[in-house]
Amino acid sequence: MPEPGAPRAAVLAGLRPESPRPASPPALGLYVHLPWCLRKCPYCDFNSHERGGDDDDQEAYLDALIADLETALPAIWGRSVSTVFIGGGTPSLFPPERIERLLDAIRARLRLLPGAEITLEANPGTFERNRFAGYARAGVTRLSIGVQSFDDAALQRLGRVHDSVQAEAAIAEAAEHFEHFNVDLMFALPGQDMAGLERDLARVRAWRPPHWSCYQLTIEPNTLFARFTPPDIPGPDPADEMFDAVLACAADSGLERYEVSAFARPGHRCRYNLEVWRFGDYLGIGAGAHGKISGHDGVVRQVRWRHPRRYMAEVAAGRPVESERRLDASDMVFEFALNALRLVEGVPSALFETQTGLSLAVFGSRLARAVEDGLLDPDPTVLRATPLGLRFLNDLTERFLEA
Ligand code: SF4
Repeated sequence: MPEPGAPRAAVLAGLRPESPRPASPPALGLYVHLPWCLRKCPYCDFNSHERGGDDDDQEAYLDALIADLETALPAIWGRSVSTVFIGGGTPSLFPPERIERLLDAIRARLRLLPGAEITLEANPGTFERNRFAGYARAGVTRLSIGVQSFDDAALQRLGRVHDSVQAEAAIAEAAEHFEHFNVDLMFALPGQDMAGLERDLARVRAWRPPHWSCYQLTIEPNTLFARFTPPDIPGPDPADEMFDAVLACAADSGLERYEVSAFARPGHRCRYNLEVWRFGDYLGIGAGAHGKISGHDGVVRQVRWRHPRRYMAEVAAGRPVESERRLDASDMVFEFALNALRLVEGVPSALFETQTGLSLAVFGSRLARAVEDGLLDPDPTVLRATPLGLRFLNDLTERFLEA
């Protein structure tokens, strides 16, 4: 049956209305969501759930992930996977044996390219740190550690379950077992001043990590901080100054800023994230996981059931996906801009046509207007935000929202 509202010609021809799609599928990554945390941080709006996650839960959840992957295989048939990202939640609540079981199951069902990047997010707690060597043996190639700060008072106010000593020990352990690892930091924390941020930056810098991510604390709806907002969170001006200090420290440390909030030494950029920002495809499995898959019928965004129990029940019934949306041309324009303009180097303009099957003409006059306003690089061969555009990235990307 044609969909309601389908153009009359398409109805008469018995065809679906044409949806844009790339001529050949782009690079494909796999995202796996492990949804449990020891405790919910008051600022967190990720799909993370306190408690649960005991041994039986973890085994049942792995079974569900594998069944979910099998259900998804027809949509990505014949394609190779170049990157895997195991995120959460706190994936390091799963012991190395279970991560190995997960990776073995993935390898048995998907063609993982040689040298595929496999990232796992880890918290710096002591019992998790002792697992890092096991994760490397299980096949994880890149660790991302949620340090956030080295200030014990700040960590407590963020509701983190680790302290600064554990954070430093976790970085040391990661450096011993992983060539590629990331340290996540946050700034503009409750009560933080510039001197406090400088102390955090000095400590992370001393470890010479090959990759940092550095995010400003933001108050998200439906979090504890949204209901009880700490009164001493730095305002916009001090937060801007703090971010300037982050940029200066990263540059002094030999780290290149390659995305709004990501910094890396040469050869250490996160390949999974790069492909997502370049509008590549990713299959997302696990509770609440998002995915983007290109196929003959167009480009589809999927969201899986959010709550772990509901997700497991729906997977058992053969319905892991809660909602699915086919992108039209205006979705493509906005979503491509939203992702690609995060990259400091931008992307070749031709990538838009390669990844979407659409002509650059669909941008209309929006590109020229953004160039005139100093937000977009005037070089027509690249789509790249200027330094001003990066600073006001929300304003820039909103320009691509309207049809
Ligand atoms: S550890 Fe991470 S995912 Fe878990 S509640 Fe805290 S911020 Fe959210």
